Formats: sequence, C-alpha cells, structure tokens
Amino acid sequence: MSERLDVLRLGYRKGRDPRITTHLALVSRALGADGFLLAGDEDQEMFDNLNSVSERFGGNLDTEHVSGLGHLKKHVDGGGVAVHLTMYGEPFRKAIPKIRRDKPVLIVVGGAKVPGDVYKFCQYNVAVGNQPHSEVAALALFMDAWFGESGSERTFSDARLVIEGINGGKLVHDIDDED
Ligand code: SAM
Repeated sequence: MSERLDVLRLGYRKGRDPRITTHLALVSRALGADGFLLAGDEDQEMFDNLNSVSERFGGNLDTEHVSGLGHLKKHVDGGGVAVHLTMYGEPFRKAIPKIRRDKPVLIVVGGAKVPGDVYKFCQYNVAVGNQPHSEVAALALFMDAWFGESGSERTFSDARLVIEGINGGKLVHDIDDED
C-alpha cells in the first residue's frame, strides 16, 4: 500500500485563478492524488464542483482549505516529504528516484508569488524543465513520472460514468442504466 499523496496549491486568488486551479485539482484526481489542498482564498464552490466530478466518475479526492506555509511546516515536522515544483529546481527525472516513497508526500505548486520559505521547508525543489511554464503542465508531467502508467491508466471502481476510450465518437457507460 503506497503512502498518501496530496497536492497543495499556494496563493489561490478566487477572482483570478479558479479555472487553472480547477485544472490542477482535476489532474491531481485523475493521476492518483488522495487530496487537493488550497491555500489562499477559500472557494467552497470549487470544492463542490470537484466533489461532483468524483461522484460521477468515481474515486475520492479529499478537498481542504489550509494555511500554506503553516500546513507545509506541519507536514514536514510530522515526518512527511514535501516536493516543491519550481523551474529553479533539480530536473524531475533525476530527482524522483531520490524521493522517499515510504512517507506521506505533499506536492507543492506555486501561485503568482512563491514565498522564499517554501524552498527551504521542502526537502525537494524539482523542475520540469528549467523554463517558466504552467503549474498544470508541471504537475501532470511530475505525477506521470511518479506513478508511471498506473497514474494515467487509473480506473475508479465506484464510478457511475465509465468512459470507454475509442477512436471515433463518445462511448460512456452509465452504470445505473446498465443494472
Ligand atoms: N512567478 C512565480 C514565482 O514566484 O516563482 C511562479 C509562477 S508559475 C506560473 C506558477 C507555478 O507553476 C510555479 O510556482 C511552479 O509551481 C509551476 N511551474 C512553472 N514552471 C515550472 C517548471 N518549469 N518546473 C516546475 N514547476 C513549474
């Protein structure tokens, strides 16, 4: 049984970041995170939307509003592993084999401005290429490398809607209708 993995999004601004932050949470869920933690503004509506995705497509993504640095420090002080995604970090394919998997893992993604303490509190500062791009792209590539195929090929046993991937059209099984 693998240890828990959560994604922490720092510096959320409700007026500006809902779409990209929802995408971060959807990538977290689809690729195998247990929880999505939001620091900054609170946004219950976003959490409700995410819970509705899990109700339809299965799985369970815990959602929680936390204090950013406070939560990070508590996680590390409690023995957890913290991985900060930043373009200034060590290349991710080089870093991943060194990261412990026997402790709960917190993946930290930044917002508009990342406080310097984040770099110090996290044991790993990891880059997905040393160019500025997107937190969604960085998270997806990191999680794909972390979990391998078991991340992106994941299925959710309690799903109501199951998509059968095909080359043309859309094939969606509604389990309720097939009983
Ligand atoms: N200007 C911000 C700062 O103070 O660092 C960063 C803004 S960037 C759009 C938002 C987040 O995307 C970053 O905090 C980081 O988590 C992620 N990100 C962007 N490029 C990345 C890269 N090349 N590797 C890893 N993460 C990256």
